[in-house]
Amino acid sequence: MEDLKGKTVVVTGASRGIGKAIALKLAGLGANIVINYRSESKSAEDLVEEIKALGVKAEAVQADVSSFEGAKNLIEKAVEVFGRIDILVNNAGITKDGLLLRMKEEDFDKVIEVNLKGAFNCIRHVSSVMLKQKCGKIINISSVVGIAGNAGQVNYSAAKAGIIGMTKSVARELASRNITVNAVAPGFIKTNMTEVLSDKAKETTLKGIPLKRFGTAEDVANVVAFLSLPYSDYITGHVINVDGGMVM
Ligand code: NAP
Repeated sequence: MEDLKGKTVVVTGASRGIGKAIALKLAGLGANIVINYRSESKSAEDLVEEIKALGVKAEAVQADVSSFEGAKNLIEKAVEVFGRIDILVNNAGITKDGLLLRMKEEDFDKVIEVNLKGAFNCIRHVSSVMLKQKCGKIINISSVVGIAGNAGQVNYSAAKAGIIGMTKSVARELASRNITVNAVAPGFIKTNMTEVLSDKAKETTLKGIPLKRFGTAEDVANVVAFLSLPYSDYITGHVINVDGGMVM
């Protein structure tokens, strides 16, 4: 059985939802975890304690990933505490939905800044660490709407499609140094992000899911675990949908 004993993982936006599930899953496989959060320090500190109880090390680091300097501090802090970074999971994300004709310029910019530039910022800073190590795995959380589009999510789908392009370009640039870069594209996952949607929207979405259920954060974490483990060593530049068959 493969595991992640002694590996260091940085998970952005890990204070709740999918990021938290990823942190717990990888900690359960033996990795030490850096839990990044933007504002929820109490949830992040509680998660540190939960992870330490699994017998591994954990550290919470506050940083807004949309800031180039903030992402730099996050990566530097992770190296300072654990000495290396084996896996980076770019999970932090926000939504500011609205139809195109009503979408404010700042709502477009903000979603791109956090969801797309935030991932770039972290990859940019972690790449020098991984290049020196001559190994690493970068896992970017995209979305099926980055593949199929979604009315009301012009900003979000553009950012998530951008993540896919970035994943493939970085995969090509870093492959020769034994660094893999892949993306996971979740469908509808039950978290705070989707809780706010109307019952009607949820009902319509459910009709389009062949497996007839919404996903859980653990469904996504399981695929991130596969991409973190040596089982996926020969996979790079790919996108794996975790969506119950929503987008094929
Ligand atoms: P969530 O419950 O809203 O959690 C988002 C996390 O991101 C929180 O921990 C939040 O921390 C953090 N965050 C937000 N802005 C940040 C920033 N600027 N810097 C650092 N951290 C920041 O969302 P989720 O549903 O778990 O989503 C996680 C990822 O999966 C996102 O990239 C999302 O786009 C993607 N995704 C979700 C779904 C879904 O159905 N839920 C589907 C497809 C893709 P603070 O609260 O501390 O700010």
